Amino acid sequence: MFSFSKKIITICILLILILVSTFWIGRAHDVEQATYQAKRQVTQLNHYIDTELARFSAIPQLLTYNELMINFVSGEQQHYSVINNYLADIQQASGASDIFILNTQGAVTASSNWQADYTFLGSNFAFRPYFKRAFAGEKVAYFALGMRSKERGIYFSQAVYKDNKAIGVVVLKVNVSKFENDRELLNTSKGSHFYLQLADDVIAMSDIEGWRLNSFTELGIEARRDIKLRRAYLDHQPQYIKQLQFTSENIPHFKIDKALYVTSSMPLRYFNATMNLLVDVSKVNSAQVPRLFWAFIIYTLLIIIGYSLLTRFAGYKKLLYSRHSLELEVVERTQALEKVQTALVQSAKLATIGQLSAGINHEINQPLSAINTYLASAKRLLAKGNVTALNESLIVIEGLVERVHQIVGQLKHFSKPSDMQLRPYPLAGLVNNALMISSAQLKQDNVQVESPKFDETVVVWVDALKFEQVLVNLITNASQAMNGAIIRNLSFHLECFEERVKLSILDTGAGIEQHAFGNLFEPFYSTKSSNGLGLGLSISKQIIDSFNGCLSAHNRLEGGAEFIISLSSKESSNQANIEKTPTQENQND
Ligand code: ADP
Repeated sequence: MFSFSKKIITICILLILILVSTFWIGRAHDVEQATYQAKRQVTQLNHYIDTELARFSAIPQLLTYNELMINFVSGEQQHYSVINNYLADIQQASGASDIFILNTQGAVTASSNWQADYTFLGSNFAFRPYFKRAFAGEKVAYFALGMRSKERGIYFSQAVYKDNKAIGVVVLKVNVSKFENDRELLNTSKGSHFYLQLADDVIAMSDIEGWRLNSFTELGIEARRDIKLRRAYLDHQPQYIKQLQFTSENIPHFKIDKALYVTSSMPLRYFNATMNLLVDVSKVNSAQVPRLFWAFIIYTLLIIIGYSLLTRFAGYKKLLYSRHSLELEVVERTQALEKVQTALVQSAKLATIGQLSAGINHEINQPLSAINTYLASAKRLLAKGNVTALNESLIVIEGLVERVHQIVGQLKHFSKPSDMQLRPYPLAGLVNNALMISSAQLKQDNVQVESPKFDETVVVWVDALKFEQVLVNLITNASQAMNGAIIRNLSFHLECFEERVKLSILDTGAGIEQHAFGNLFEPFYSTKSSNGLGLGLSISKQIIDSFNGCLSAHNRLEGGAEFIISLSSKESSNQANIEKTPTQENQND
C-alpha cells in the first residue's frame, strides 16, 4: 500500500516536471519564432522603404540637369504654366506628394500643386534645412511636418546650378502616410507593429497613430530647444510615451501598457532613421494551454504504457531468474545426489565387507589352521625323513594356499568402485569365450555342452571382461550342480526383443534348493560344503545390474536350473559400432 502511493507520488512529480518543462520549452520556442518573425518583417519593411526612397531621391537630381528647369530657375524663360504643369506631371507619374522649386531666397517659384488650395506658390521655405543645406551643395533627405499640408513627409532636395553657381533648389516631398497605409505591402500582421525612429528619437512613422511625432525617449531641454529651433515639427512638441525596454535571454523586449513585444531594429540605407518592428508575445503564456493539455494526455499515456511494460518485463525477468536458479539448483542437487549415491554404493560395499568379514574370517581361518596343522606334520615327516608323506602334505598345503588366494581374489570386486564403459559386443563371441575359459571345469565334470548358434548380429551393451566373468561363474555353477547327475547337459537359449535380449543358461542338475531361493544372490550364501565361497552369484548380479540388466534364476520343470540374463541391445542402430571381442581379435591375428 505504502509503495503503491509512493509510486503514484513519483509519477505525479514526474508528470509535473514534464509539464513544466513542456511549458518553458514551448514558450521559448514561441518567443524564438516571434523574434524570427520580427527580424524577417523589419528586413522586408526596410527593403521596401529603401527602394521607394532611392527612387524618389533620384527625381530632384534628374530635374536639376533638365534644360527647361535650368532656364526657368535662371530667369531666362519665365513660362510658369509650362513648368508648373511639367512638375505636376512628374509628381503624378512618380507618386510623390509635391515637387516644387525654390529661388535663391527660398521662395517657391513653381510647384506641382499650383492649382491646389494649399499650393506652395508664394510661400517661403528659406528656414527649412532642406533648402539651406541643398543650396550649400548637399544632396538632402529630410523629415519634416508640412507647413501648409500639416502632413509628415520626407523632403528630397538638390540645388540647380548654372555656371557652377547655385541658382535655386528643386524639392520633392513624399508623405510618409503613404508607407503607413500600405499595410499589405508591409506584410505586417495583427500581432505586430512598427515605428521609424529619427536621429533625434522622434517617431516619424508608425502604424499606431498615437506614437507618431512622439518619442519613447524622455527628451532633454537641449534636445527640445534644438527641435524648436529647427521647426521640423513646426509647433508640435513630441510627447514622451511611457514604456519599458529590456533584454531577456538575448532577445530585446518592449513592454507598453499591458502588451509585451519582442523587437528587431534595422537602420534605413537612404535615410538617417532606424526601423523598429514589434511582435506581440503577450499571449505566449496562455498559448501554451492547448500544448500542455495534449502533452498531459500524451505523457500520461506514455507513463501508463511504460509503467505496465516495465512491470511485465520485471515479472518476466523474475520468472527467467527463478527458472534459471531452479535449473541450477536441480543440477547442483543432482550432482550432490550422484556424489552421495556413489559414496553410498562405496560405503555399502565397505559395510558389506565389514559385515562379511566375520564370514571371511571363518573361511580363511579354516584353511590357515589346516595349513598350520599340515606344516607341523610336515616338519615331523622331514625329521623322520619320510619324503613321500612330506610331499603329500606339501601338495595339501599348496591346495589350501590356492583356496585362500581365491577367497581374497574374489573380494576385490567389493572394494573397487565400478567404473566401466558399456559398448556393443556380439553375444555369440562373448558366450564362446566364456565356454573356452570354463572348458577345463566342464571336462572335469564330464558335461555335454550344446554349443549356442546365435545370430552374429545379436549384440549386447556390456563390459566384455566382466560379462565373461559372469558367464564363467554361471557355467561353473551349472557344471558343479550337474556333478553326480546322470544326464549332464549344458545349453543356452536366446530370445530377442525390440531393445532387449534374454539369455538363458540351462543345466540338468539337481536344481536350486527351495530354501536357497531367498538368499541365492546374497554374498557368502553357498550350499557347497568344501569349495563354495558364496560370492559368485552376488558379484554376478551386481555386474549385470551395472549393465542396466537383470539376473534371475528358477528351476526347470524337466529338472535342473535356469539362470536368465536380460540385457539391452540396439541391434539395428549400433551395428556399425560393434567392436570385436578380445578373443576374436586374437583369433584374427
Ligand atoms: P558358490 O558357488 O561359491 O556356492 P555362488 O554364489 O556361485 O557361490 O552360488 C551360491 C549357491 O547357489 C550355490 O552354493 C548353490 O547352492 C546355488 N546354485 C548356484 N548355481 C546353481 C545351479 N546351477 N544349480 C543349483 N544350485 C545352484
